[in-house]
Amino acid sequence: MTGPVPHKKVEFWDDERKLGNSLIVTLVRGWKFNEDVMAVEHVLGFDTKAEALNAVRASVQCDCKDCAISAKDDAPTLSI
Ligand SMILES: [Zn+2]
Repeated sequence: MTGPVPHKKVEFWDDERKLGNSLIVTLVRGWKFNEDVMAVEHVLGFDTKAEALNAVRASVQCDCKDCAISAKDDAPTLSI
């Protein structure tokens, strides 16, 4: 189930807690969760809305390959 997006950095907000899953948050391209410095996490599951919002607020700008490609969608050249 996709609910209303509570933050401008959130692309998808899937509250699947009623299904026994997590509250799954997908960040807008160009942002990543700052939970784990060793990994790039654009999507994370949470137990509570407060926890999810805290993580969204703590998110940082991301320049990983995926985000960089997305940011350059308008560019005519794209090397893979
Ligand atoms: Zn990224």
